[in-house]
Amino acid sequence: MQSAVLFKTVSRHYGDVRAVDAVDLEVRAGEFFAMLGPSGSGKTTSLRLIAGFEQPTSGHIEIFGETAEGVPPYRRNVNTVFQDYALFPHMSVRDNVAYGLMIAGMGRKQRRSKAEEALELVRLPGYGDRATSALSGGQRQRVALARALVNEPKVLLLDEPLGALDLKLREQMQDELKGLQQSLGITFIFVTHDQGEALSMADRVAVFNEGRVQQVGTPEAIYQRPDTPFVADFVGSSNVLPADMVRELSGRAGTASLRPEAIRLNGGSGPEATVVGLSYMGGATKVRLAFRDMTLMALVASGGVVPQKGDTVTIDWAPEALHVMGQGT
Ligand code: ADP
Ligand code: MG
Repeated sequence: MQSAVLFKTVSRHYGDVRAVDAVDLEVRAGEFFAMLGPSGSGKTTSLRLIAGFEQPTSGHIEIFGETAEGVPPYRRNVNTVFQDYALFPHMSVRDNVAYGLMIAGMGRKQRRSKAEEALELVRLPGYGDRATSALSGGQRQRVALARALVNEPKVLLLDEPLGALDLKLREQMQDELKGLQQSLGITFIFVTHDQGEALSMADRVAVFNEGRVQQVGTPEAIYQRPDTPFVADFVGSSNVLPADMVRELSGRAGTASLRPEAIRLNGGSGPEATVVGLSYMGGATKVRLAFRDMTLMALVASGGVVPQKGDTVTIDWAPEALHVMGQGT
């Protein structure tokens, strides 16, 4: 498959800060690709490198097989939806959406019809004459999206675009963005610090930490088979068991991750643990367990038997639930 974006050992350093540090990455044409990581892990810098607002300190970037270095942002066939939307407050919705077309020299009449098409795509038909200041947060987000899509980019970069929306609207927009990406067939690169968002939307996910990519894979692979303790913990708060404990419990070698939902309480003859905390989460109850010198998280689905704080319980799990990540600790 053709690659939309290729990073070959790309770094972007600011003095001592390694914002992006020797990253190798391939985003395939037509995929919904998520960059997931905590704040400060290098996600925005990576997007800015793709957009051409930043240049690598070292390494090489290709966009659809062509060298990106030296190509200015407006000639990259890439558009960005910024985290804060960056709409022009004094312009109408239509003029915001058509701005890129005006800069490109397109005539007024054609601009109008292209802008209206883009507004229909984001479900804001007929909103062209409105002032952006009169819109809700969700509507402003859609205008920002229309403004990027109107240029018919081959790659759309989205920097935490749903971060400012409340949960219900965010979930609705997640579905709409996914649908839009599938119907347009263009490459989306979606930045988020929300693991649930990345897992639910993306075809593949790159997990960032401290400027480095820890793992790239399908949501299922990232979740079920994390390569590193960081990925295990960041993507779904897994339990990370040290190598000596793994050897004792399973005879296998290496640090391992164990998902909270894989731990069964009082189901068999496993080792004992003590319940030290409970948090009710609606669909499930999170159970904090003291086990040897560590704390384990378990989940009891609603309807299941929830133990009491202070109880001694047995814990066990299916052998394959213990995912060994690597040698040593
Ligand atoms: P993220 O989007 O994952 O939160 P960023 O890519 O914005 O992370 O930032 C990565 C690191 O690089 C952070 O430590 C940030 O402070 C630093 N950084 C980003 N841009 C600059 C800049 N222009 N000058 C100095 N440091 C920067
Ligand atoms: Mg950022």
